[in-house]
Amino acid sequence: AKQLGRKRFAVFDEALAKGMVDVLAMESELRKALRQNEFEPHFQPIYRLGDSKVMGYEALIRWNHPQRGLLRPSDFVKIAEDSGLIEAIDWRLFELSCRLLAQHGPGEPFITFNVSALHLRHADFDVRILKMLERSGLAPSRLVTEVTEGALLDNPESVRNVLDRLRSVGVGAALDDFGTGYSSLSYLHSLPLRMLKIDRAFVQELDKSGSGNSSTVVAAILALAHALNIQVIAEGIETQAQLDALVSMGCEMGQGYLLGSPAPMSHWVAS
Ligand code: C2E
Ligand code: CA
Ligand code: CA
Ligand code: CA
Repeated sequence: AKQLGRKRFAVFDEALAKGMVDVLAMESELRKALRQNEFEPHFQPIYRLGDSKVMGYEALIRWNHPQRGLLRPSDFVKIAEDSGLIEAIDWRLFELSCRLLAQHGPGEPFITFNVSALHLRHADFDVRILKMLERSGLAPSRLVTEVTEGALLDNPESVRNVLDRLRSVGVGAALDDFGTGYSSLSYLHSLPLRMLKIDRAFVQELDKSGSGNSSTVVAAILALAHALNIQVIAEGIETQAQLDALVSMGCEMGQGYLLGSPAPMSHWVAS
């Protein structure tokens, strides 16, 4: 038994060491990727469900890895966050996204991007956003920041101040992944929210048999949001039945594979 124990420990140790090597290798790859501009935004259209008009796009980061192909955030964002590199990567991505949207033809869709807790910790986040908008030539009213409840927990007061200042210059805020956090309701009335995004988990339940409970939840979210003058976006719409249910409940906007998957801007706008 003693022998086995030592062996197991050795195996664990090795795996741990290998994990650390992997993380360090990934960090240096991320730095290189930043230098060589290997990150690019993909855009998922956000539709008005009534008439399928594109109202905006969510910018989603992709890493165009020279060997491993197109990587999704789940492959690298955690390490990028732990190493602090995500901020530089995000700012590059945000600015590129705004430039692309500024060039977008008529219709003037809005753009949303995912802002993590790290960004919101900076009291001058709003100032940086405004400078970036100026450089990229995008009107502030066309930008919506997506924040999660998790990012708010950190320091609700200072986040609210940043979002208030952004709203005063026209930049909107959306509460992302709504319904998956803890004290959702307390944020709704105290934050300057333009939009709220119903998490995919609720949408996916909508067309299952006995989906009564989730449609009740979705209907309640819609009623609450509308009473507070907040627009609602449903996330992760994959089936016609989900779409029909959302339309019948009066959900105004939505995104998902059924309607359009994330793709480079060139896919959405003929150049
Ligand atoms: P999120 O903000 O909740 O983004 C929605 C995710 O759902 C995206 O995954 C999107 O591609 C995916 N999705 C869209 N429609 C459907 C659908 O119909 N079905 C299913 N199953 N999934 C759908 P993605 O692009 O892999 O992003 C994952 C997460 O990574 C995002 O979750 C967001 O939290 C984070 N993220 C994405 N882009 C950025 C970024 O630029 N910066 C930072 N810091 N985080 C980002
Ligand atoms: Ca999001
Ligand atoms: Ca989301
Ligand atoms: Ca999410």
